[in-house]
Amino acid sequence: MTYTIYPPFHLLRSWEACWKCGGGAEAIAFAAASATSDDEEEQDEMPEHSPIILRDIEQAPPAFIVAADLANGRFKKRYSHTAAREYYMNHCTCGAPFGDHFLHNEPGHAFYPTDTTEAASIKIQEIDYSDELEIDCGFAGWSSLCPFEFGVMEAGKITVPLE
Ligand SMILES: [Zn+2]
Repeated sequence: MTYTIYPPFHLLRSWEACWKCGGGAEAIAFAAASATSDDEEEQDEMPEHSPIILRDIEQAPPAFIVAADLANGRFKKRYSHTAAREYYMNHCTCGAPFGDHFLHNEPGHAFYPTDTTEAASIKIQEIDYSDELEIDCGFAGWSSLCPFEFGVMEAGKITVPLE
């Protein structure tokens, strides 16, 4: 589903333990202030909180691709058997994929903190981009601990030079 998302946009980073190699790596996620849909039914089901965290990104705007490459270069499109489609997925340094379902919907994983200590390990930085964007994605649920309230907001903005 394609949505229009509105700034400010943020890049979130958090550690994810790897199910495959036993190590782990920093995973990323994107957030927008809000989103709208042309589809009325869809609009009724939009999250009401703000900011909203995006997941299952099937088509990403260039500004997000640049920000992802700057972050770690391991946010790549990959087929998900769980979701039965391709979307931009985080990967461990060993190459194993971190599915968005685990990162966002399983308690204790990267973007689903279960206490304030876990939430405080989420780093958030604003992306220096002020126009609305089109994106094909879904929305993450919300643990009771909002990363924007309990995470660490980093100084400065991520500059995304576009060709
Ligand atoms: Zn690994």
